[in-house]
Order: sequence, then structure tokens, then C-alpha cells
Amino acid sequence: MDDAAVHVLVFPWPRQGHINPMLHFATALVDAGVQVSFLHTERNLRRLAHAPPVGLRLLSIPDGQPDDHPPGFLELQESMSTTGSAAYRALLSAAGADSTVTCVVADSTIPFAFDIADELGIPSLAFVTHSACSYLALLSMPKLVELGETAFPADDLVRGVPGMEGFLRRRDLPRGLCCAEKCGEDPLVLKLAEVTARSSKARALIVNTAASMERSALAHIASCTADVFAVGPLHAKSRFAASTSLWREDDGCMAWLDGHEDRSVVYVSLGSLAVITHEQFTEFLAGLAATGYAFLWVLRPDMVQMASSALLREAVGAAEGGRGRVVQWAPQRDVLRHRAVGCFLTHAGWNSTLECAVEGVPMVCWPFFVDQQTNSRFVDAVWRTGLDMKDISDRGVVERTVREVMKSDEIRGMAQAMAQQLRRDVAEPGLSSSEFERLVRFIEELKHCMKHRLNNAVPHST
Ligand code: UDP
Repeated sequence: MDDAAVHVLVFPWPRQGHINPMLHFATALVDAGVQVSFLHTERNLRRLAHAPPVGLRLLSIPDGQPDDHPPGFLELQESMSTTGSAAYRALLSAAGADSTVTCVVADSTIPFAFDIADELGIPSLAFVTHSACSYLALLSMPKLVELGETAFPADDLVRGVPGMEGFLRRRDLPRGLCCAEKCGEDPLVLKLAEVTARSSKARALIVNTAASMERSALAHIASCTADVFAVGPLHAKSRFAASTSLWREDDGCMAWLDGHEDRSVVYVSLGSLAVITHEQFTEFLAGLAATGYAFLWVLRPDMVQMASSALLREAVGAAEGGRGRVVQWAPQRDVLRHRAVGCFLTHAGWNSTLECAVEGVPMVCWPFFVDQQTNSRFVDAVWRTGLDMKDISDRGVVERTVREVMKSDEIRGMAQAMAQQLRRDVAEPGLSSSEFERLVRFIEELKHCMKHRLNNAVPHST
């Protein structure tokens, strides 16, 4: 590494939905002349299906999990904060000793990344891979718990999240897998609230969102953090067109889409983590089949509890009479860009939401956990670019909602207007693009401060 250059260590949480935006971020930094090292876990580095973008150095640390065991979030937090953090400390100490790392940009869900960087005197910035509105909701969690306004399947409006008092309901708050009376004690949500609070103390917060989408939430976050940079949607400006997938994509579905009329297909994907019950699968399939539309469905092999892929394919084949196509993993950004796609039935993960928004495709949301609950409320009640099925997803609701979204000119118009705005935001001199430039200057300034400190600390001999 060149001593004189600005060098950023980018450290994503080792999950698909975190790696994708941080890789686009890293590529944008490289394009701005910054040296970037990208820190994977050893497991993910082995799984990567494509070569990294040119100019990016890949590093890895262990995640402390056996290879054959896909860990849950809390389990991974535990092993990353022991095994992973020890390796991270060693790596950063070595880099810190010869001052080659200007700063760390770590995922907001990795508290030890900030603690260790602080101890070693290396500035750290937090990267938020989810929406500003869900970050604000997690930041507001202590207040919500105090008010007794935690996630619950009810329509009562919540008071504890600034700026969202008029439309956010208890059912729209971040939650774990359970949505019971004791949701305020949900260990997943409590952990996320804790790591969010820690990340808000970082030197600055980088959010993969656009001010045009989340101005109010960003303003509230800015009032309790040192600085906020809204630089998204990053994928829309990324020169890294290749996929960042940890799974092998089934490209065959693109030719299948080519054979369909414009806006006639429903694209269905629930992201990389959601797992549904067999009953939910059956209801969903029945609802989709009843709409009469062709559909492209991403069914990961581990997505439906207690069911084999072969059985699921058979069920889909029997239900829809040839109008459906099932893949294990799709080239999602290409699919959303295809003229044949009429709507996206999604879990409203933030990457999926942004990818869909940039293509101007209307959404039907079926959220599962954490930020998805809040994102889907924004899609329905704030941006009006789709409809939110929330926690009700029986066959009748699926059928009605998909039909309505496929037919609504109003929703399509809103989705397309948002897409145009987002393209302006990421193009120069759009707001996200200017924010990215401001961020690069901010990081360069850190380098100058560091040089200044070192020069003052080591007096020149005469
Ligand atoms: N994705 C993909 N192919 C698929 C399904 C998902 O490439 O078949 C990508 C999608 O484009 C997005 C990411 O996986 O970038 C999922 O992230 P998101 O935040 O939407 O959801 P998560 O997986 O974190 O729940």
C-alpha cells in the first residue's frame, strides 16, 4: 500500500444483504482514488461466485463458526465478537503500527469494529445497510420500551419515533421472529438496539439511502450523531455490474422473461434469510396462482421449513399450470430491470426495496423481521409505491393485493417518479452524489489530521 494514499478498511457484516451495498460503496471509493481493503469472513471469501472489482484488496478473518453450520444473527454476533474480533484486532494493529489505514468503515452491526479501532487510535465510521427510518426506530427503542410501545400486530400509532408519529403503527416497528406481547424483550431487537446505539457514537454515519426518500428520518438521526452522509442508492451508481452473490444465479430465467409481455410477470423473492412455514408457502402459492399472472419465484433450498426443493417445485408445477418459473437464486437487479416484470412481491429487505425503487417497479410487501416492517410501511403509506400485506398473508390477501398492484396506474406512476428522482440523486450534481464527494473529503481530512498528529508526536532530529 502507498503510504501517502488514503486507505480505508471496509468491514461488512458477513451476510449477503450487508456485503452487497458495502461492496458498491467500496467500488465507489476506489473510483474516487481511495485505496480500499475489503474485509470478508474466510467462509464468505471461499463462497464468492465472482472476482472482486478491480482495485479492491480482499482480506479475511474467521467467523468462529463451523463450515457446515449456517448460524443465526445472535450466534454469529457472539462468535464474531470473540474469534472474529481477535483476528480483526491483530490485522488492524499491524496496519495501525505503520499508519497505513486512514480509517475503518464498519457495518453498524459490528460494535467491536468501532471499539477496537478507538483503542488503536484509528478513526471509525459506521455504515448503515438498512433504511434511515428503521435505524431511527432502533435508535428510539429505549424510549419505545419506556412508553410500552413495542412491536405488536396492532394498528395503534406509536409516539416514540420522532417524525413518524402520524403513520407508524406498532405493527410497523422492528421486531424479531416472534411478535408476541413480550416483543419489547425480544433478544434480537434488544441486541440490534444496543449495536445501533453504539454505532451512533462513531465519527460519522454513512447511510445507503437518499435524502429524497428519507429526509425527515435523516434529519432526526443527524440530531443525535456527529455527522450523517446519505449516499445511496449505491448500486445505482456502481460500475461494478457483476453480481456480488454468495449463491450461484440461475440466468435461465432471463430468457424465460423474454418470452413474456411487458409488465405481465410477478417477480417473487423473500431475500437471503427469510424462512417460511409449509403452511405459509401453500397459502402464498394458492394466492399467486389465483391471480392468473405468470410469476418468477426465488425459492432458496433452505427457505421453506421441513420441505425439500423437489417437493416445492412439484407443488408449484401442479398449482399454476405452467405459468410459474422457480429458481434457487436469480440475478435480481437484471430481473427487476426487465420490461416483463409488472410487480415485485418482496420481503422489503432494504437492498431489494432500493433495487426495486431504482427500476420504478411497484411493490407488494410481505415483511418478516427487523427493518422490513418499517420499510414496508413507508412503501405503502409514505412513498405510495406499493402495498403492504404486513402480517396477514392468506391466499385471499395475496391474490387481492397482487391484482391491485399489477393494475394500479397510480402506484406505477408513483414508483416511476421515485425512480426518476433517485437517478437524479445519484448522478452528478445530485444530492447523494454530492454527499459522497463530501464524504471523500471528510476521509481525506482524517488522513491530514493523522499526518499532523504523527509529525507532532515524532520530533525531527537535527
Ligand atoms: N438477491 C439476488 N438474487 C435473489 C435474491 C436476492 O441477487 O434471488 C439479492 C438482492 O438483489 C439483494 C440481496 O440479495 O441485493 C438481498 O438483500 P435484502 O436487503 O433485500 O434482503 P436480506 O437478504 O438481507 O433479507
